[in-house]
Amino acid sequence: MAAPKVAVVGAGVIGLSTALCIVETCPSSSVTVLSDQFSPNTTSDVAAGMLIPHTYPGTPIHVQKQWFKDTFTYLFAISNSAEASEAGIHLVSGWQVFKSTPKEELPFWSDVVLGFRPMSEAELQKFPQHRFGQAFTTLKCDCPPYLLWLEKRLKATGVQVYNRKVADLWELHREYDIIVNCTGIGAHQLVGDKKLFPVRGQVLQVHAPWVKNFIRDGDGLTYIYPGIDRVTLGGTREKESWSLSPDPGTTKDIFDRCCSLEASLQEAQDIKVKVGLRPSRQCVRLEREVLSQGGAKLLVVHNYGHGAGGFSVHRGTAKEAARLVGECIVALQGSSSRAKL
Ligand code: FAD
Repeated sequence: MAAPKVAVVGAGVIGLSTALCIVETCPSSSVTVLSDQFSPNTTSDVAAGMLIPHTYPGTPIHVQKQWFKDTFTYLFAISNSAEASEAGIHLVSGWQVFKSTPKEELPFWSDVVLGFRPMSEAELQKFPQHRFGQAFTTLKCDCPPYLLWLEKRLKATGVQVYNRKVADLWELHREYDIIVNCTGIGAHQLVGDKKLFPVRGQVLQVHAPWVKNFIRDGDGLTYIYPGIDRVTLGGTREKESWSLSPDPGTTKDIFDRCCSLEASLQEAQDIKVKVGLRPSRQCVRLEREVLSQGGAKLLVVHNYGHGAGGFSVHRGTAKEAARLVGECIVALQGSSSRAKL
């Protein structure tokens, strides 16, 4: 059969990394990316891009750990290469601090990040309101540069990238053999997934080049994540809110909370505010589906619903989605050779 045509819908971190994994693992396929928005206008552009996993209650921990490990290994290699600066990938060390000792002193990802250890008394003195803490080194993706780097790599391998809003997956049926759905919160409308809901997040990006270490309150709500040029201050988690407008009261609240963890931020300059909708679900939807309509069949691979942790697991879920695309290609080849008999 001719090269199977694969359309990846979505150009956030999940769509772009999935398209790249498909090119790498299914070289016989012809891959196209279709999306109604690209960087800098996706949710992925708003993210801080820190590799600290979020837990998906509906997915076994060993699976989540493997996704994180795959992602960490992939980005660690980039951080050690001459590509690091263009890709916006760098190591960052810092502290996760708790007002009381958490139930789980060793999170499942503690042996994937580097140098995970309890904080010393001397380190804890910096945080008088906190009683316990963990120090470690992880990776951070500076988001627009990483998305642009992925897009550049895709184009270099011959992947076509088009601006297109897909109203119904069936509209792609005549043009493509396999559809990969990486539409993030857009899947709520595109495939009517009622289990998918937005968790609104507002963050500030500030100029504070003296801040070199990350600081994260253990509840995950207040964080200071230094990037290559700017520091991200967060945040909020507002379930079921679809508003993309920044709220000035929230901006002040975030700034005050971050200053209570790192007082020198009072001197931060050039505050920009961003809002994004985390595509949240009990578990990432990562599966094959065969849609049927009037006797016709459409092969679909879903990869969306990464909530608060898309950057932390993107490469792992992209690899799995590419494996599922490989299975679809085998099924297509089987049906085409049966048709010839
Ligand atoms: P998106 O980036 O939203 O991409 C979806 C794509 O699909 C877009 O290109 C969109 O245009 C396209 N699309 C949608 N519908 C259609 C359609 N019908 N037709 C065509 N195209 C369509 N994660 C971490 O791991 N670490 C962090 O530090 C972190 N910080 C965050 C901070 C905030 C404030 C927020 C909001 C999120 C954060 N996240 C973080 C989570 C992370 O941003 C998401 O999990 C991730 O960006 C989801 O990526 P995605 O590609 O699925 O979605």
